[in-house]
Amino acid sequence: PQLANQIAAGEVVERPASVVKELVENSLDAGATRVDIEIQGGGARLIRIRDNGKGIEKEQLALALERHATSKLASLEDLDAILSFGFRGEALASISSVARLTLISRPKDQAQAWQAFAEGRQMEVQLQPAAHPVGTTIEVADLFFNTPARRRFLKSDKTEIGHIDEWLKRVALARPDIHLSLSHNGKLLRSFRPAKDEKGYRARLQQVCGKDFVAHALAIQCQHDDLSISGHLQLGGEPSAHHPQYFYVNGRLVRDRLINHAVKQAFAECGRDAIAGYVLMLQIDPAQVDVNVHPAKHEVRFHQSRLVHDFVVQALVSAINQGQD
Ligand code: ADP
Ligand code: MG
Repeated sequence: PQLANQIAAGEVVERPASVVKELVENSLDAGATRVDIEIQGGGARLIRIRDNGKGIEKEQLALALERHATSKLASLEDLDAILSFGFRGEALASISSVARLTLISRPKDQAQAWQAFAEGRQMEVQLQPAAHPVGTTIEVADLFFNTPARRRFLKSDKTEIGHIDEWLKRVALARPDIHLSLSHNGKLLRSFRPAKDEKGYRARLQQVCGKDFVAHALAIQCQHDDLSISGHLQLGGEPSAHHPQYFYVNGRLVRDRLINHAVKQAFAECGRDAIAGYVLMLQIDPAQVDVNVHPAKHEVRFHQSRLVHDFVVQALVSAINQGQD
């Protein structure tokens, strides 16, 4: 199973930011309202994620580190299936196969916290009592210590922390209700307090997208049948090659040609050739979209792509026209 874990790890764990992504997603799945991320040495030395979620019971700790279905790698066809369906149930197993992983957790109805440790090839999980409030802390130390080729592939600390920060910003926009922080080598880089109202959200928007974006942000909100779009569009402001452009489908960031095209077309129809920044959230019936086309590539496939495209164009065009008046 160790080889299988390491093969899966090659897909799940590309760099420290992918570890942070998997762990924070687990925290959010566990209902956490606060997630603190501590990084040392660009994430290669240490990634520590602490949350106040529902925790993991002592009896489940070892299980959480196990790969749910080792049999998946039985044949080449299965490998294809894994590549297309993502790696559900494999993140912790994959991470622990290429790092030293410590899991400390306490569920609400358990008096004592317990700690599990797993390291690289030695998949035997050791359990011991620990001190921890309700919630979970996961420490990932010495990432890729046993896969030197991958370790060498890591870029500078600055670059790796940049990837982590960029990913965190995406989450911060999508989940304004969550308290998030990021520190590197003991220095606090980001602190997002929960945004309770539009004013709080604009403060978060400013932290992520900058003053210029917020100063020129036009709020948009539009619904048609079971499609709705909301968010902010930047109209005017300083020209820049780095306008923030974030598009979410049902809370997940996507990079999609159809969507890019729709946004471009809307700006063009309003006589604006330059697209500026945008942070847009599309809500659609989950049965109408496949989001897991590739776990890392942020692609989506809409069943009725024409309909979605035209809805986005029309929503933006009418918002821009109203904003211009
Ligand atoms: P998946 O999230 O796809 O189930 P993972 O390998 O990411 O697979 O996690 C394995 C399991 O460990 C999860 O299903 C969950 O039960 C538990 N778990 C992981 N992280 C946390 C956390 N922060 N809080 C509570 N439970 C967690
Ligand atoms: Mg997970």
